[in-house]
Amino acid sequence: LHNRYLDLKGNVRVFCRIRPPARKEQQAAVVPSLNKIHVAVSGKRKIFELDKVFLPASTQDDVFAEVSPLVRSALDGHNVCVFAYGQTGAGKTFTMEGNRELPGIVPRTLQTLFHQASSDRSRSYIFTFSMLELYMGSLRDLLVSAPQRITDPAPKCLSIQMDVKGWVEIENLSEFVIKDAKQARKLYRTGSRARATACTNSNEVSSRSHCLIRVTMACTDHSGENPILSKLWLVDLGGSERLLKTNAKGQILEEGKAINLSLTALGDVISALQKKQPHIPYRNSKLTQILRDSLGEDAKTVMLVHVSPSKEDAGETVCSLTFATRARGI
Ligand code: ADP
Ligand code: MG
Repeated sequence: LHNRYLDLKGNVRVFCRIRPPARKEQQAAVVPSLNKIHVAVSGKRKIFELDKVFLPASTQDDVFAEVSPLVRSALDGHNVCVFAYGQTGAGKTFTMEGNRELPGIVPRTLQTLFHQASSDRSRSYIFTFSMLELYMGSLRDLLVSAPQRITDPAPKCLSIQMDVKGWVEIENLSEFVIKDAKQARKLYRTGSRARATACTNSNEVSSRSHCLIRVTMACTDHSGENPILSKLWLVDLGGSERLLKTNAKGQILEEGKAINLSLTALGDVISALQKKQPHIPYRNSKLTQILRDSLGEDAKTVMLVHVSPSKEDAGETVCSLTFATRARGI
């Protein structure tokens, strides 16, 4: 019944979250309603329609309420992706990670996974946790030096492989068995720290890279045979801001190009799936290659597009909402 309900809602749901204004920002560039958003840009008003709009006053609870059905889907054997999209500063990390008082999607998902798995007595689960970063077209294992790691800690080159059934594996990526939400959160903290420490130069690399968390689950009934495998991805995408118009040069320009390429590829794949096109262009970026088996007919996706309420950001807001509209297959 649960999945039939989700099927009615569609396999891809696209939401917009508007962050609260910062103190100095000039406002009122965006006017939201339940599932529409008006953006005032250079004297014109553009209207975008989404599955739902989260207002600046929306809570982490409100947002998670739309994500939690996908946790159930993952436990039922579907591959699932949750993305945070938007320009830097629009609230992606706030939504995914949150803070101690207002935890975001990642800690809530981990909590809910174990809670739901343990309340289902007819099935048993084995969960694993991995975390990686995609920066300038290369993959980096964020848990390679996690203290919990048992096997060889030497960093190895990660590569993407696909088996005959279409299941994607990332070779050499560290994978940890997690038995409860606490263990998972600890790994998440380790991975987040590994990500932060690499950002020593001023142009905060974290905003120019994608951060991906993968939870895999193997589900068996009483017999313990033929486990059903599924994956759940939680992705804090790199900033979607266009750098070509600014005076970005050198490294920053290259980073911007890499991000734009992979975000465009992601949009193309989701849009092609929505339109049920015969060819889905997965091969155009590493991001879509990694997620190939988790973005498809039997998979579920939530795309959370983050926008700023500020007048100054209206141009980027229009770009982000254009991406959102495409992702809805329109
Ligand atoms: P991004 O990851 O997209 O670059 P952040 O999540 O770091 O953006 O958000 C930028 C700033 O705005 C942070 O200080 C964050 O705490 C704050 N912020 C973003 N969204 C919200 C929200 N919905 N409620 C309160 N503060 C928010
Ligand atoms: Mg961020």
